[in-house]
Amino acid sequence: MKYNWLKCEDEACQYRFRQTPLSVLNSVLICPGCTKSDLIPEYGESALYEQITFFLHMFNIERYKKLMGNTKSNQIDSVLKSLPSEIVKLLWKNMNELQQHVDRFIRKNGYGIVNCTQLFGQFFRD
Ligand SMILES: [Zn+2]
Repeated sequence: MKYNWLKCEDEACQYRFRQTPLSVLNSVLICPGCTKSDLIPEYGESALYEQITFFLHMFNIERYKKLMGNTKSNQIDSVLKSLPSEIVKLLWKNMNELQQHVDRFIRKNGYGIVNCTQLFGQFFRD
């Protein structure tokens, strides 16, 4: 699955496109294959955000251990204790760097921000 691919909205057409076609009409991308349906992103923005939030949990070992419960957490601890200390330090360092990279990306992403004024604004109009 490619993140920058577009596909035809009509499942029967099965047209896929990687670049923006020239047939842009009123900001709607018409499928060059069937010339009837719209082109939509193959991998949607919200699905991509969901994937990134998965990485947010994946690289945080402490958070992962809390989610897994005591039995799995103890298993993780015993595996980490069985490894040489240099390897464990390197593992923690790399996991922290990956975590920080994902954190930076999440902070920049608009899906992580809830605009309460926009969300509840309709309830407070005069
Ligand atoms: Zn099509």
